[in-house]
Amino acid sequence: ATPTAIMVGTGRGAANGILVKSAEALQTAHGVKTVVLDKTGTITKGAPEVCEVLVAEGRCGSASSATGCAGGVPSSADGFGGARKASSARAEQSSGLFVRVGTAERLGAAEAIQTSQVDAQTLAFLSLAYSLEKRSEHPLAQAIVAYAEARGAMAQEVEHFEQIPGGGLRGVVAGRACLAGNARLMEEGCIDIAGAEGGAQRLADEGKTVIYFAVDGELAGLIALADEPKPRSAAALAELSRMGIRTVMLTGDNERTAHAIQKRVGTDDVIAGVLPQGKEEVIRDLQKQGTVAMVGDGVNDAPALARADVGIAIGAGTDIAIDSADIVLMKSDLTDVPAAISLSRATMRNIK
Ligand code: ADP
Ligand code: MG
Repeated sequence: ATPTAIMVGTGRGAANGILVKSAEALQTAHGVKTVVLDKTGTITKGAPEVCEVLVAEGRCGSASSATGCAGGVPSSADGFGGARKASSARAEQSSGLFVRVGTAERLGAAEAIQTSQVDAQTLAFLSLAYSLEKRSEHPLAQAIVAYAEARGAMAQEVEHFEQIPGGGLRGVVAGRACLAGNARLMEEGCIDIAGAEGGAQRLADEGKTVIYFAVDGELAGLIALADEPKPRSAAALAELSRMGIRTVMLTGDNERTAHAIQKRVGTDDVIAGVLPQGKEEVIRDLQKQGTVAMVGDGVNDAPALARADVGIAIGAGTDIAIDSADIVLMKSDLTDVPAAISLSRATMRNIK
């Protein structure tokens, strides 16, 4: 009866887009106490979009380099009139250094395209960010590259480029030492970000990811990106909690951003600011309290997926995540996480 129940369970899963790779996983899943979920690409769509750019006045390049970059682009504030108007009501009060240059989010897509011209100072900043981010394949980088490209950013020479896992990027752009990444990376690089703190905290409280950019040891600006929760994330998490399972969001993103997303989707706990190599350790820790399932999509998640008692990969995720997992959600639908556990529970009832 045991092999039959497993076969039936596996078949029923497959018919519903839940690919169970091993008999063991199908049996273990029934006892899951904690489900750990990666944030980016698992709970959220994993398709960040730039929604705001704050630029420090006069920090990004000498006047000459800004002018040099500006070729053909209106250098007056009128270049992005619509965006500035839309955002002026909530212009930054906290620091005179920062001007907001675009809130694509509050403009319709068509309007956002019309306001794709920016002033010289912003273009200098975007060109710098563009040059660095072009070298990275991170989804955040791809979003920044697309945004900057649409606004006429130009690539500058990058030397000594380096990726810092869980932090960001470093490189010398057109002869200037640049750093791009999160607050922790800025701290490590002794960059003072206090001037942007008010704006950055507001953005993080809205669930946005803030990437800081420093040039020659000083903060030059920041770019905020929004990555919306998937439509069914909240329903999946509610169902897990109804089944008596604790849910934990695990992310490399910062605490404030993670908590804002938590509020919207409803996980029981949040573990934020975790370095890529730290995710596996978190799983090991949680295993002391019972059976743990990990749900993830990224290269970063692979060791944690392998470590967990049940690794569950998002079908649309990376090959490494799929290879490391015991169960693959072919429809990339998070409600299939509670469905997989229910399937396991039903299968175990059949065995007895
Ligand atoms: P996650 O995808 O779970 O957020 P990562 O380890 O990939 O975890 O990234 C953690 C943080 O490192 C990001 O939230 C971001 O702040 C920073 N970071 C990563 N890659 C880049 C990049 N290309 N440019 C700027 N910052 C980056
Ligand atoms: Mg992810």
